[in-house]
Amino acid sequence: MVKRIRGAIQGIVQGVGFRPFVYQLAHRFDLAGYVINTSQGVLLEVEGPEPSVTAFFEAILAENPPLSQISALDQSEIPALGETSFEIRESKAGLARSALISPDVSICPDCLSELRNPHDRRYGYPFINCTNCGPRYTIIQDIPYDRPSTTMRKFEMCPICSAEYADPSNRRFHAQPNACWECGPQTALHDQRGNPVACSDPVQEAVRLLRDGAILAVKGLGGFHLAVDATDHRAVVRLRRRKHREEKPLAVMVPDLETARELARISHQEAAVLTSRQRPIVILRKRRSHGLSSQVAPRNRYFGIMLPYTPLHHLLMDAPFRALVMTSGNMTEEPINIGNEAAFLNLKGIADYFLVHTRDIYLRSDDSIVRVINQVPRQIRRSRGYVPAPIFLPKSLLRLPPVLAVGGELKNTVCLTKENRAFLSQHVGDMENLETYEFFRLTVSHLQRILEIEPTIIAHDLHPDYLSTRFAREQEDVPSLAIQHHHAHIVSCMAEHGIADPVIGLAMDGTGLGTDGRIWGGNILLSDLVSFEQKAHLDYIPLPGGDAAAKFPWRMALVYLDKVFGDTLFDLDLPFVRHLDKGQAGIVVQMARQGINSPLTSSCGRLFDAVSSLIGLRHRNAYEGQAPIELEMCRRRGAKGYYPWRIEEKGDHRRLLTDDLIRSIVEDLVGGTSKGTISARFHNTLIHMFHETCRLLREETGIRDVAMSGGSFQNATLLTGLTRVLEQDGFRVYSHRLVPSNDGGLALGQAVCAGLRHRGWKGRYKQHETYG
Ligand SMILES: [Zn+2]
Ligand SMILES: [Zn+2]
Repeated sequence: MVKRIRGAIQGIVQGVGFRPFVYQLAHRFDLAGYVINTSQGVLLEVEGPEPSVTAFFEAILAENPPLSQISALDQSEIPALGETSFEIRESKAGLARSALISPDVSICPDCLSELRNPHDRRYGYPFINCTNCGPRYTIIQDIPYDRPSTTMRKFEMCPICSAEYADPSNRRFHAQPNACWECGPQTALHDQRGNPVACSDPVQEAVRLLRDGAILAVKGLGGFHLAVDATDHRAVVRLRRRKHREEKPLAVMVPDLETARELARISHQEAAVLTSRQRPIVILRKRRSHGLSSQVAPRNRYFGIMLPYTPLHHLLMDAPFRALVMTSGNMTEEPINIGNEAAFLNLKGIADYFLVHTRDIYLRSDDSIVRVINQVPRQIRRSRGYVPAPIFLPKSLLRLPPVLAVGGELKNTVCLTKENRAFLSQHVGDMENLETYEFFRLTVSHLQRILEIEPTIIAHDLHPDYLSTRFAREQEDVPSLAIQHHHAHIVSCMAEHGIADPVIGLAMDGTGLGTDGRIWGGNILLSDLVSFEQKAHLDYIPLPGGDAAAKFPWRMALVYLDKVFGDTLFDLDLPFVRHLDKGQAGIVVQMARQGINSPLTSSCGRLFDAVSSLIGLRHRNAYEGQAPIELEMCRRRGAKGYYPWRIEEKGDHRRLLTDDLIRSIVEDLVGGTSKGTISARFHNTLIHMFHETCRLLREETGIRDVAMSGGSFQNATLLTGLTRVLEQDGFRVYSHRLVPSNDGGLALGQAVCAGLRHRGWKGRYKQHETYG
């Protein structure tokens, strides 16, 4: 019996070779009909014998192209037309634009083999791509996604490329960045002043310069990298000095998985992430003899390693290099550079040479960073390769109104929602300078345009002085809603896992403004998606110098000691005390005691800072989170025991007191206990403290779902250990996978919370968000 079925497909189905795929399937099953791009995705009709039609739709789901992602397939039967052929129909102009755009994708195996094939017409061409790979998000200025809306529009395709582009059976059918040596972008080499360097092969010349120890600025997919040979110690040291980057680890690119295994220990899951088409930087445990400069990742047990993801990277790595440092081409704190001229200007004095090209980057996108913790890949920075693929929200959250969430201050990302999809932006960065703020504004307007989302509400942080908050409040025609930082963290975790019922929320991080005007960061909440109540927190401690205290762990160690020992702290027989600058220390103690520029904080991050400094590991942070990271890395595995701590009832919530913990660490130090053991006991103490608090709350409420969020849960020891004890005790434990646990995931929680509140959801807890 002949049947005609109409299928409407939603998801990432445009610009990923979906229509040719459908075309080829229809031919395989000998079906008539057509396929067309629509505002929603792809629409198709097929007509033929019923078993063939059924097999066709099964194949659609089973064999869809690598870059596509089907979120819905609706089928309906319609009258047969007696057609005999199948065609790809051109979509009408003026089409609405809600189809999803693919992220940028690493070079596919087919293109890679052509790149290396001396008989292929694209042999050695640094911009080879096809429908299965290449740039997308970073070159798209507008939608619909066609060549004129990308930065490729200035390159007119040659006859051969045009023929590929027009042929449905070709791998480059409608591949918008399609190009070749004849018609596409080219590379060029410039010296440190930005003047062109004459050479026949800029890439091979760049290789030669790198071998000689030069620092090269290399234009990539989402921005510039600064590259040096990672085995060349002097070159690495020079790069650090010029970039003003003291100790923060530098990412390296290696040619292949085998080489990565020579540098680091790599599990199954880590290998899968490393070789995935997103090609993030993966945090991997160093081997003892790795052969790279010790300055690549000093005082660190891990390397950040990635594999080549563009043809240009492969051409460089094939040289061969064992490893190249490939760090973002920016001064510390500023956004990564994308334009050639801007790079010449901003990287002057850092780069010896520039390897640039003529394909413009429209939107910058940093390399993503992933770490596998407790067998699960976790996003640390979700950016290039993942953005703008949506996070699909569960059924209970369907039909969110269009929301714009503007994120926080550090590691900023923004989020837009549309029905059941949340679009988290690429990494914007720390909103502490004008350049980053401009990039933030561009990202907001760009995402709104390409996703066609007109927000009906804007969510922002409770902190009135964040640039993101000010931006939200300046949008006068759209109401805004302030979401408390730690509640947003917990909602982000809940949304990712599709939990709508109340949870016990463990929100542990460095800083976020609380509803009592204090700086929170060690909070245990009861929370649903729209309201919360703080039930316990790490006891408040002064933060001498405010935010600046985060740079100086020794100040935190000092105020913790002062809280426990008062003036007698200066008599303690500790290296920490002996090495104190007494004059400076006296001033800090007085500031803290008198509350001068010393807001109170419950920050978990600052407690880590304090312990790190107290045991002599790190007194000043050269980069954010350094003291806690080094404290975790020095932990002696398997060390047992924990320090005493106390819980104090106070009204309807509890304070978690750390005085006994600090006193015991001092006793251990005086008694000569190793740093590794103290670190292990400290981690055990926090695990014990949070577990006990969860038990108390479970007894009171019956809730046994625990959501964990905040930057402190990037600590693998804390995350893994706490998950284990809670699960052994019958809790269901949820932690982040798809979005970062740090502030990079905040916007998702803000968006969901604000969207549901706007829709009239009423929470059961007393602290609701307020319209600003
Ligand atoms: Zn390809
Ligand atoms: Zn061409």
